[in-house]
Amino acid sequence: HRLVNPAGSPDEDAVDRAIRPRRLDDYIGQAAMREQMAIFIQAALARREALDHVLIFGPPGLGKTTLANIIANEMGVSLRQTSGPVLEKAGDLAALLTNLEPRDVLFIDEIHRLSPMVEEVLYPAMEDYQIDIMIGEGPAARSIKLDIPPFTLVGATTRAGLLTSPLRDRFGIVHRLEFYTPEELTQIVTRSAKILGVEISPEGAREIARRSRGTPRIANRLLRRVRDFAEVMADGRVTAEVASKALEMLNVDHNGFDQLDRKLLRTMIEKFEGGPVGLDNIAAAISEERGTIEDVLEPYLIQQGFIMRTPRGRVATRTAYLHFGLEPPKTLNV
Ligand code: ADP
Repeated sequence: HRLVNPAGSPDEDAVDRAIRPRRLDDYIGQAAMREQMAIFIQAALARREALDHVLIFGPPGLGKTTLANIIANEMGVSLRQTSGPVLEKAGDLAALLTNLEPRDVLFIDEIHRLSPMVEEVLYPAMEDYQIDIMIGEGPAARSIKLDIPPFTLVGATTRAGLLTSPLRDRFGIVHRLEFYTPEELTQIVTRSAKILGVEISPEGAREIARRSRGTPRIANRLLRRVRDFAEVMADGRVTAEVASKALEMLNVDHNGFDQLDRKLLRTMIEKFEGGPVGLDNIAAAISEERGTIEDVLEPYLIQQGFIMRTPRGRVATRTAYLHFGLEPPKTLNV
């Protein structure tokens, strides 16, 4: 089990419900997105219309589900949640759509994994609030149009490039979530600590923030683990020293990298001479799935300048060599 895994786990859900922001004002960071969203929501409310469909993309743990819930709250409607792989048949989606109340939010996570049949149902639903249903079989079969309530589709995906363009084009509002700055994560940790009743110093919050891979979900998880450490090994107060010791013990280094990140970087450097190396070769060498590397491991390493994506494959940068105290090759120019 990976401590810095940005994906959630069921046992985290209960704590998560307590600390998950419910209003746009409590959503920390992503300032540009938040400002725009506030205006779109206010305008839709004033017109008593459903908010336009919203596509949110970004790596796991950055707040896509949270934002979908906030949109529903701010619109004063209910949220129905499902995901691409769960909607197997066209009828599954049709059933969900016909049961919505006007202006409700339908949240589809991993929307890039919808089957083409299900996606077909979505197009007229998004565009005209209508669905086509087939009645009967064989020569007697005919399709009828059914009106559904005006609704807001909120779709989430890790990478925008995974969506078919007809689907992407039907979203009026598209937002890309960015990794959070250490300052923003410090605010998130401080807020969560307050809700959980954890005593934490500003430096303690900052230490956790710095090692959270730009990801709120990881920040909240590290806070909970550091709290355990503080309660058992110290006086319960999370200071910078306690946080630093705890995270060291948990194998999360100063950059928030764990064994897997280090394995990935070291493999690129030691087995592939720093690259360029293709994703499939890396995947095979560290026994991880290609998708996990692309969606979970790599985005933060790229954003932080440890890996570069080039047309010929991935390259480990000088920063990566220096992280391990290694001499970058003379020929390396990134
Ligand atoms: P995603 O759906 O992108 O995987 P989530 O919305 O489930 O991510 O976010 C993971 C957790 O991180 C949430 O439960 C919430 O507690 C916290 N979180 C996410 N975004 C923010 C934010 N902008 N401000 C404060 N906390 C956040």
